[in-house]
Amino acid sequence: MSQHHQQAKWSSVAAKARGRILPLLPAPCVECGRPVYPSQKWDVGHRSPLSLGGSVLDYGPSHRACNRKAGGRMGAAKTNARDPRFRPTDEDRTPQW
Ligand SMILES: [Zn+2]
Repeated sequence: MSQHHQQAKWSSVAAKARGRILPLLPAPCVECGRPVYPSQKWDVGHRSPLSLGGSVLDYGPSHRACNRKAGGRMGAAKTNARDPRFRPTDEDRTPQW
């Protein structure tokens, strides 16, 4: 889960967004584009990730599975970028001959 999702501000934005999105369902999932039905488990998803310059207010419905998968992918990419095991070292860049 990214930092901003853990902040109280996002919780209130997401709660309001749910209220706005619910009457519009079924609507296309922001992740996969298939319809999200009110009877399905769904989350408020970002149309464009904040880390890529998206806005907190640019949201739409997302299947829960799609949203968790997208967040997981991004979280993993961030975590891996911090982990030196996933970063090239000087040794990797130096030809070994
Ligand atoms: Zn989806």
